[in-house]
Amino acid sequence: MSGDTVEVEGVTVPVDHYIDGRRVSSETTFEVRSPIDWDSWKLAEVANGGQAEVDAAVAAARRAFPQWAALGPEGRHAHLTRLADVIDATVPDLAKVECADNGSLYEAMSLRVLPRAANNIRFFADFARDRLNHDDTARTLHGGERNRVRYDPAGVAAVSTPWNAPFMLATWRVGPALAAGDTVVLKPPEWAPLTCSMLGDLADEAGLPPGVLNVVHGTGAGAGAPLTGHRDVDRVAFTGSPATAHTVYRDAAANLTPVSFELGGKSPFIVFEDADLDAATATAAYQYDNSGQVCLAGTRLLVQRDIVGDFLTRFEERVGEIKVGDPRDPDTTYGPLIHPVALERVTGYVERAFEAGANLAFGGRPIEGLYYPPTLFTDVPEQAEILHHEVFGPVLTLQTFEDEQDAIAKANATDYGLAATIYTGDEERADRVSAAVVAGTVWVNCFYVRDLETPFGGARDSGIGREGGHHSFDFYSDVKTIVERTALFSRGE
Ligand code: NAD
Repeated sequence: MSGDTVEVEGVTVPVDHYIDGRRVSSETTFEVRSPIDWDSWKLAEVANGGQAEVDAAVAAARRAFPQWAALGPEGRHAHLTRLADVIDATVPDLAKVECADNGSLYEAMSLRVLPRAANNIRFFADFARDRLNHDDTARTLHGGERNRVRYDPAGVAAVSTPWNAPFMLATWRVGPALAAGDTVVLKPPEWAPLTCSMLGDLADEAGLPPGVLNVVHGTGAGAGAPLTGHRDVDRVAFTGSPATAHTVYRDAAANLTPVSFELGGKSPFIVFEDADLDAATATAAYQYDNSGQVCLAGTRLLVQRDIVGDFLTRFEERVGEIKVGDPRDPDTTYGPLIHPVALERVTGYVERAFEAGANLAFGGRPIEGLYYPPTLFTDVPEQAEILHHEVFGPVLTLQTFEDEQDAIAKANATDYGLAATIYTGDEERADRVSAAVVAGTVWVNCFYVRDLETPFGGARDSGIGREGGHHSFDFYSDVKTIVERTALFSRGE
């Protein structure tokens, strides 16, 4: 396909928008650098879109909508399965580019995260074909009327996603939207836009009709805001920070556009005295994964007072095994922060935690470049900012608790409600605490694993709505109830 490209780690990457099945440039570009070596590794100049490019993409998506919708789940399934296959075949290239662009581990990208992206597309395509609009929802009323539910495509979906897992997070929204029969305009994150840019070419290779998936690059204010506030958009799926979500919500509200928000977290990681401490400390150390740039990370360690000494000893041993460095190296545990602005933010949080009187157990000073060590604060005053704001870096806090009620109270002392992790040997306690913590997902004696069919999202400031399985189709579809008095249908001979 024509359009400007760059070479990244031997992979050809398009840097223009993808609108109506064609590559389209802009008058200006923005610079993309690799966090692996920020000062000396420039990756690309990417087309910097604005209102005009967003208008063109939304118009293309609107034109493509009737035919895409008319294909039905079965027809779309064939297209989306091809797209998933093409993604699978491109995982090695995508992993190289993602690693250079956002500093995530090459190995994690190639073995787990990017294969999951293909699975996101495949799962929702299968779900729509096998489960949507089948009459298993039909009920008969007392008067003999049949009540049933249809899921029809809603129109054009605007998707705006962040940089911490750019390609996977984009497919988590694009997959169900396309499977539902919506057409899509995707705004990739400007700090790591390259793999989402490749998605345009992959859609083309898979034979998706022009306009079904469009990609418009640009900044949040320049391209994101015109997209999520566009009058001709029918759904807004936004993944990012609560601060940005306020703006997106206001803009979408002007058009009464339904939103699905997956936002930040300050999740508790609760360890009871009866827990398997080896398992708990191993998983606790994993909360530094991706340099702490994970929305679901359990950044507030809550440990029962009786075992805190033992916990800390084993936790520090585990953390001592962490190797921070080049994410292309298979021995590395996690790579750099994404951007100098992110480093400044993390550094600021750490300085203010000191000022608030928290005790630094380890870490707390940048290594070099954008690399930051695992950091832990203990004895943190309850009102300290570090207990309440999402740092989005490798910085955890540790608090102790006395008993179950204290653990629950401390776990819920936050404006967020994305996830919670509980380690305990007592199944009944696990039940009680899972029920009492405010969170969209609770992991008990495990972390991260999830069935795509179950609802995913956040309570409080961590989000609006749930996605996964039919929850995604509740959002991306126009859901319709049909009530029929079947007795009046002519039977026909
Ligand atoms: P952010 O809110 O600054 O930006 C997210 C994306 O939104 C970017 O691509 C940005 O360009 C775009 N954007 C900015 N203004 C916009 C607007 N007005 N309209 C539309 N798009 C706009 O977030 P970030 O710092 O890039 O990402 C980190 C945040 O994302 C953290 O809070 C993290 O917890 C959260 N996150 C949540 C999930 C989840 O599933 N709940 C997953 C990953 C990240």
